[in-house]
Order: sequence, then structure tokens, then C-alpha cells
Amino acid sequence: MDDLIVRGGHVIDGSGAVGRDADVAIGNGRILAIEPRSTRPARRVIDARGLVVAPGFIDIHTHSDFTLPLNQRAESKIRQGVTLEVVGNCGFSVAPAIPGQAAMLREYLASSATWLPFHDTTFAEYVAGFPPTSVNVILQVGHNTLRLMTAGLDNRPLTADELATMERLLEEALAAGAWGLSSGLFTAPGNFADAAEIHALARVLRRRGGAYSTHMRDEGDHVFEAVREAIAVAEATGVHVQIAHLKLSGIDNWGGAAKLLGDIEAARGRGLPIDCDAYPYDTATNPLRNLLPRWVMEGGIPAMLERLRVRGVRTRIRDEIERNGLTNFGRITSWDAVRVAISPHLPENAGRTLGDIARSRGVAPIDAVADYVVADRGETRILVTSMTEADVREITRAPWVTVGSDGNALAVTGVTSQGKPHPRYYGTHAYVLGPCVRDLRLLTLETAVAKMTGVAARALGLRDRGLLRTGACADVAVFDPARIRDRSTYENPHQYAAGVSTVVVNGEVVIDGGDHTGALPGRVLRRQAAAA
Ligand SMILES: [Zn+2]
Repeated sequence: MDDLIVRGGHVIDGSGAVGRDADVAIGNGRILAIEPRSTRPARRVIDARGLVVAPGFIDIHTHSDFTLPLNQRAESKIRQGVTLEVVGNCGFSVAPAIPGQAAMLREYLASSATWLPFHDTTFAEYVAGFPPTSVNVILQVGHNTLRLMTAGLDNRPLTADELATMERLLEEALAAGAWGLSSGLFTAPGNFADAAEIHALARVLRRRGGAYSTHMRDEGDHVFEAVREAIAVAEATGVHVQIAHLKLSGIDNWGGAAKLLGDIEAARGRGLPIDCDAYPYDTATNPLRNLLPRWVMEGGIPAMLERLRVRGVRTRIRDEIERNGLTNFGRITSWDAVRVAISPHLPENAGRTLGDIARSRGVAPIDAVADYVVADRGETRILVTSMTEADVREITRAPWVTVGSDGNALAVTGVTSQGKPHPRYYGTHAYVLGPCVRDLRLLTLETAVAKMTGVAARALGLRDRGLLRTGACADVAVFDPARIRDRSTYENPHQYAAGVSTVVVNGEVVIDGGDHTGALPGRVLRRQAAAA
């Protein structure tokens, strides 16, 4: 007898093909059969009449390694039908922390991993100790973390010894189960790395069957160069390259989506192993300090905080921003486009813009910003509206661009319910499946599902997930195509998405009639296991 049968639903299998009515039988964690009007007996029957039955969604770019240990039920994600999160992105991973360096890593990641405890750990210990969660997890090791462990926040090329150390740490992480290496070349210390350093590490990935994902060196005024740099990694080393959260940031770059997509498609057309992901919002989130010129952070956080007190430094920052726009984000309309999201030491300011804070204090914006970074010890997270909706929609509708929330698994109660985080943490997948399909008519439901299942699985090299077919792992999402939608807003972000009634992970029901069962069937997927 099967464990479970999902009856009477409209099966959209993740391949992009038109859906069909069928029953889906599940047992021993696998899909056992997909057939119309099945007569297979099962211990449990789920009535899916009027609903869509799809493969569980893959959130291909997230930072939930910062929150899953605090929110093992992965509430904001699983309630959208997400069954797999790829974490350790943008060069940031919480392991390895070599002996004595955990405090430095905590300080470095504090504006992102605000509530997570840190301790010294090898990557193998980290994988072994990763808690059971409701979603499956793919772990990556971060280039920023490896460089921090090797050369701190020094702005210089690595010595041969240091590069060898990084290569060894990367090999250890891959042997322990890391899927690959992520880079965050937009911020220190990743931005101190040249192409040779990245290519050397990519060659390690190539040898060990690992993948490379990158938050590119620039997403604003130099985004096209940055794409070329990412493509060159695939070209030079043959490693798979995942370009993270594709976007055009900064007023001067608006309208460039077609060319940006065209450049990447051309590289794919040449046979290069390149994929990309995007979130469907015009607003980004980042540590406030990352908007400042890169030299501000040289030498580490304490050095930055000292520097920011100096008047001449502030004048220089102001002039550089006036001339070049914000680092990573380009020119924005005003400081009202920058809003405090999470502020560990000044939590009462969540939701206020930096423009508003400057006006209410009667000070120049640069002083408000510098004072804020200092008072919040560099840990402030902000929202910055730096894209244009037309570009966002053009990227969202591309059938080959996968869906990555770039968000953390949060919950409306408990430690992760603090501040006003980006709504994408709660709504990315539901927004694409609902409003983008139904209201904006950007893409068909089949294409939307494929982007977050089959296409994503192929980008990851995952063979037994991402498609609803006999023999595949039983990760399944059941939703109402007329009701699915995001409810999280910038003003009131801590709201779960609506319209997802059943979610199955590895054959176990986690969302049942819209409620979380408390089940934690997710596991860390290791690359070796996938290749076996
Ligand atoms: Zn990123």
C-alpha cells in the first residue's frame, strides 16, 4: 500500500509541458506513479480537485543558513511550496570558521546573520551539525568567508601560500558535502580578489565536480563587465556558473534588461554552462555599509567605524556618491529610496528611510548615514529601491531564468520575526505563481512552475528532483492557482503567502490543509549523493 495519494489534481510536472489531470502516488519518499483515476490503495488520500499539483519549488538562491537553525520549520518558505533552499550564497557561509576566528566571522556577518550564534567549525562539522529542517538544503561554501579566514579584510592579492590554503579549505568543504563555491565580488574581501584567484578556485571546483555561483562584482554601472567576468569563469574553467539575482541597479542602467539577458543567452548559445536567477522585486536589501565606497571597509569593521567619525572622510564619501552613485547600486532617486529593514541596536527605526532620519535630525544625509552606521556598529540592513519595474518584469518572464528569493526562511513569531525584512523572504514564489501569472500575465503557469522546478534542478545538476515523474524524490506542492499570492508587504512584511494547501518533502506531509505539521523531513543534499 502506498503512503499517500494526491487525487484529482491538475499535474504541472515542472518540465514546462502543459498540465494534465492525474493522481500522484507516493511511498518510501518517492513518486510511485502518476496516472489518471488511479486505483492504487494508499494510507492517506489528499483531495486535490481544483488544485495544481507541482514539484516542490526550488529556491535556488537564499541565505537561510542564517535562519534555519533558528527556524527549523522554514515557515516563510515551506508555506509557499518551497521544498529546497540553496544557501551559502553571495560569498557568505558560516563555515568554515578556523580556530579563534569565529568572533571575526560573526562580526563580519552580523548585518546578515543577525541572531545566529557562531562558533569555530570545520565545514565537515558544520554539515554534520546542520539541524533537521522542513525543507531540503544545499550548502555552498563562501569565497568571502574563505578569504576572511585566510587573509582577513586585507586589500591585496593573495600570496601563493594563502591561495593554497583557500584551495585546501575549498576542497575540504566539497569533500564534506558542499555543492560548490559562491562568490560575493561586490563587497570586501571578495572584491579584493582578481580573476586569477577566482579561476584557480574554479579549477578546484571543476576537478571535484563542484559548481560556482556569483553575486557579481557589480550590478549597476558596470553590470555588463561583471557579466563578462562571470562568463569568463565558465569559459576558462568549464565549471557551471550561476549568476545570482540578475538585475540592473541604478537610474542610469534602467532599461537594459533585454541586452543583459541577450548577453547571457548568447554565452549559453555558445554552449557555456551558465544559468542565472532573479527575484521579482524592484528593491534590494543589503547591509547599509555596502552602499558606501569600498575603501570605507578596508581593514575591517572597527577600522570602518573609526573612519566614519572623521569629517573629511564623510566629505569624501559624499563627493564619491554624488559622482558615482552608491557602491553596488548606482544612482538612486534620493536617500528616501533607502529604508532601514533590520537594525540590531536601533530597532525602533525599522521602516524609516535615511532621508527621513536626516530631515528629522536636521543634518545632512551623509551625516545621518555615517552616524547610523556607527551607532548600529555596521550591522544595519536596509532596503534600497534601485531597479525599475520594467526591467524586473522582463527578467521575471524569461523562461530560462530561475527563481531565487535571496531571502531567509523567517517566521511570524520567534526570533526571526524581528524588524521589517524584505517581502521577498515571504512571497517570492507565491508572487510569481499568482500575481505575475494571473494579473500581470508575464508568463504561463507552466513556465512559472518550470522556472522554479525543472529549470532550477537542471541548473543545479540535480537528477531526482524538480520534475514530477515516477521514481523522483517526493517533493510536492499543491496550490490553488486562483488563490496563490504573496501577502507580505514592505510595511507589514511578516505575513505568510496564501493559496498553498499541501506540501510534501521527501514523502512526508509538512503543510497539511494550509497548516504546518511540525515535520522536519528535509535533509542536506550532498553533491556526491546527487552524482551517485
Ligand atoms: Zn547576493
